[in-house]
Amino acid sequence: MCQVEEEYHGPLLREELPEELPSVSRQCVKCKEASAAVVIRAGDAYCRGCFKDYFIHKFRAMLGKNRLIFPEEKVLLAVSGGPSSCSMLSQVQEGLSQNAHKKLRFLPGIVYIDEGGAVGQSAEHRRRTVEELRAVFRATGLPFLTVPLEQVLDLPSSVVLSAPGASEQEAGAYKAAVDHFLLSDGSSGVTAGQQQETPPPEVQEAHTHSLQRLLGSARTLTAREELLSILRQHLLVHTARSAGYSKLMLGDSCTRLAVKLLSSISLGRGAQLAHDTGFSDSRYGDTILVRPMRDYSAKEIAYYNRMFSVPSVFTAGLDTKTADKSSIQHLTESFVIKLQADFPSTVSTIYRTSEKLQSCKGSASAGGDRCLLCVCALDTAAENASAFSATLISEQLSQKKSPGESRQAPASQCCSIVGGELCGNGGRGCCSSAKASEPPPLRSLLCYSCQLTIKDMASEEVLPQYILSEAERRLRRSQLREEIRDFLLEGEADEG
Ligand SMILES: [Zn+2]
Ligand SMILES: [Zn+2]
Repeated sequence: MCQVEEEYHGPLLREELPEELPSVSRQCVKCKEASAAVVIRAGDAYCRGCFKDYFIHKFRAMLGKNRLIFPEEKVLLAVSGGPSSCSMLSQVQEGLSQNAHKKLRFLPGIVYIDEGGAVGQSAEHRRRTVEELRAVFRATGLPFLTVPLEQVLDLPSSVVLSAPGASEQEAGAYKAAVDHFLLSDGSSGVTAGQQQETPPPEVQEAHTHSLQRLLGSARTLTAREELLSILRQHLLVHTARSAGYSKLMLGDSCTRLAVKLLSSISLGRGAQLAHDTGFSDSRYGDTILVRPMRDYSAKEIAYYNRMFSVPSVFTAGLDTKTADKSSIQHLTESFVIKLQADFPSTVSTIYRTSEKLQSCKGSASAGGDRCLLCVCALDTAAENASAFSATLISEQLSQKKSPGESRQAPASQCCSIVGGELCGNGGRGCCSSAKASEPPPLRSLLCYSCQLTIKDMASEEVLPQYILSEAERRLRRSQLREEIRDFLLEGEADEG
């Protein structure tokens, strides 16, 4: 019974912990003295001390290499309670406890999003989980926030806008900031910040119901998971913004990112891969997402957490205790994990690919339209010869039925049926004069992948108000632009 329970503690962890530790005779490859305690890759056996050094060094190296986090910058750590984000928290703590010249110089805080409402947990169950995590956070001495996912329903529309910010720091800026810091009060270092404890906010039952209705309207688990991850990200970014944090640290491990990379491709998010899996993600402009755990495998993290007693708290996700094939994300995960068991370089090979990806900044929509949901640049303005348009054409063709048969597409998608033919616009920018009564074509504001997600929803109206009102604003604006197009000089029309 217990065994079964444990099996579900994050499939990533299933990547087997060592059943038999290496024999005592085996020596550490690093110090060549102590006996090995952990084998990371074949041939790389480390003793306890060297493994700790290696693990800590890797975190520092990742931050050092990317030079994105400035001294005294406020950095919000998104901790889900899982092994990877808890390990990240312990690495930050470790960095704060170092002596002056090695000390981490940013100001960390912690945020936990309580998603219990989304997975249907009882209020009591949620309260216990939150309390367990708050105890872990309290012990760190860092300021922390626990936010119920229900709060996503009250977000302002500004969250789906990319705010202008210092996203593109000049190369010399980091060094200048560090030098300035060292001159001013480098010796004093940075204290961990005062811990102000705010009680967990009350969750109204009605809010939980709205959230459940929203997620429940997704017909597939794939869409539900996408939706949840979008909402979670919006809430994290909003929390960071409103509490004055300019960086948001996410705990994605390299195993997690390898899974994300493959599932993102399956979900049609090829254009957004660099954002979704890279070290830094500047899609929100002023709040930069960083992934400092991206060099660690889930296995390394599991070893480290166990050897050095890093606490983590199990929280159920949407796909907990579901079959492998229940969603694209879940299926990809089990595929990668199973492949990794027999071919240990699977994850690192996929992951290395993600390092080489870059977002195409020069695309037509650069600085222009962004997806209403994932806030990435729209990938739907591609040329006619693109994979995107090919997909649309084959989709249209496959929906075509022989004459006489009734159309699959609901009548509301198209305004008029002329001689048994739809107007051909597939619901987007229809030709009819009855346009006003039609629901707004929200999908035109989304990237290809988010369009697929919304398509899997029974109703768009259950989306949170901040998304709907921003959609309305954008649609109104583009309508206005369309109306005055004829009066504009060439070229002006696109500038809005
Ligand atoms: Zn050693
Ligand atoms: Zn999108």
